Amino acid sequence: MTDIITTTGFRTVTARNPATGEVLRKFECATPGQVYQAVDSARAAQKTWAATDVNARKEILHAFIRELHARKSEVAVLISRETGKPLAEALVTEVVVALDAADFLLRELPRFLRPERVGHANPMMKARRSYLLREAYGVVGVISPWNYPFSIPAVDVLNALMCGNGVVLKPSEFTPLIALKLKELFDAAGLPAGLLRVIIGDGLTGASLTQAPPEHLVDKLIFTGSVSTGKRIARAAAENLLPVVLELGGKDPMIVLEDANLETATSAAVWGAFMNAGQTCLSVERCYVHRSLFDNFVKRCVEKTSQLRVRPKDGGEYDVGPLIHAGQADIVDKQVQEAVAAGAKIECGGRRLDELGMNYYTPTVITGINSSLRLMCEETFGPVLPIIPFDNDDEAISMANDSEFGLAASVWTGDLARGEALARRIQAGAVMVNDVITSFGISEAPHGGVKSSGMGRTHGRAGLGEMVRLKYVDADRMGGVAKAWWFGYGDGYLSQMEGFADFMFSSSIIQRLQGGWRSIGAYFRKGRV
Ligand code: NDP
Repeated sequence: MTDIITTTGFRTVTARNPATGEVLRKFECATPGQVYQAVDSARAAQKTWAATDVNARKEILHAFIRELHARKSEVAVLISRETGKPLAEALVTEVVVALDAADFLLRELPRFLRPERVGHANPMMKARRSYLLREAYGVVGVISPWNYPFSIPAVDVLNALMCGNGVVLKPSEFTPLIALKLKELFDAAGLPAGLLRVIIGDGLTGASLTQAPPEHLVDKLIFTGSVSTGKRIARAAAENLLPVVLELGGKDPMIVLEDANLETATSAAVWGAFMNAGQTCLSVERCYVHRSLFDNFVKRCVEKTSQLRVRPKDGGEYDVGPLIHAGQADIVDKQVQEAVAAGAKIECGGRRLDELGMNYYTPTVITGINSSLRLMCEETFGPVLPIIPFDNDDEAISMANDSEFGLAASVWTGDLARGEALARRIQAGAVMVNDVITSFGISEAPHGGVKSSGMGRTHGRAGLGEMVRLKYVDADRMGGVAKAWWFGYGDGYLSQMEGFADFMFSSSIIQRLQGGWRSIGAYFRKGRV
């Protein structure tokens, strides 16, 4: 039995190089039956896996790191071919992120899985030995997008597996090959057979994972993708009370205060907006600049943007690649053209590059945009940097928060304390002061959003927390003594409990002492059942 399900579906998906249109491989979509079977077999393998100790899991982690490190160039080349992103980005934002996440797990896992003592302030609970266990869910479903087709599933799969779960991974239909490569790396690292299953297919294939009959349903789902699919998944999950993490879209603001370093902030804006051709959930999608810096800021952004190398027809080195498909370029172009029609000014770019292919778009700097336009409200997910002036901190915060999204944000300033104070006022899952996007690659940092950007967290200790069920264990050393709050209700009982409540919670010391005395006396006087 193969761990990769690709046969006998009616529909097909095709992996292509978006830079050239070259077909890399065609797959038949997994049928619902094959999806259910993948969940069943991951569940069977998980039973043994859940009983392995942390050291056995760490051995696999070590081997995974060795394998990925040794094959980092091969993996980066495949990512670049399947997404069109520059090789440098494939290495840094995908391979290195996955390596760092595995390294984080090596350090964090033993601490995380160790039983955690729970102490008690209440004197009536003092005789208990209480602790928290973190137990695997069973099978975790991971549904991932195409924009970071390696690092996003790699982190989720690593976290789920190392917490003792089996995993069924459904990658985007645009990036199946790199998901299969991830599985190949785990196989080479010695992961037990069946524990990680990859199902290839389209959105309907993903739907059969989330809408399976209860006996074939995963026990937890980690979804990364668009808000609309996220909502669909949340509705399906509600039917079965399936716990889900939803990592959805963003419209991240960058706020540049008047004391920011202009050179650094403009480089950050250009990188933050155009990296991965702007197809990053944490992209700089709205850049708010203090009016005193505005003209120079725009000028430097235009100068720096004009130095970017869009992928030439024959390949070679480049900074900005194509969008994943022509449909994505359509969305970008429509938003830009709508803004222009409403009076916005294209400072540079602002057009498709049909001479290179249908899915190329020029890195675009745009000003004079009305905040009600789609370019300012909806996720653009393309190489567009809108720059808007503001006059004071309150205005900047209000504009940054004026969004249905709340994934991440950044504040740029020479005064860290001021930046951190503003960070607290921004509605987002992460705010960086003097940096953009990097939080995704910091393995200790939780990743996730507020508002329509989703719920739950991946990455860091919080991300590990999503992969386990918390179990509270409470062992009473005085098992032979009847509890004071059991039956035997009546005056004596009430007197005891009132006295106890006074002892615990009164603001007067005298009343506390009296309450304690009253409670002890009543305990011996009251009747018992
Ligand atoms: P989609 O929502 O279109 O797809 C995401 C995944 O869900 C894909 O694997 C897709 O399969 C699958 N899918 C589609 N329909 C269903 C369904 N009905 N049931 C189950 N699964 C389904 O997002 P994109 O792939 O276009 O990714 C881009 C989006 O992801 C952007 O909005 C971006 O902001 C967001 N994102 C969020 C991140 C975060 O951490 N918050 C990080 C990265 C991206 P298929 O592709 O085969 O249709």
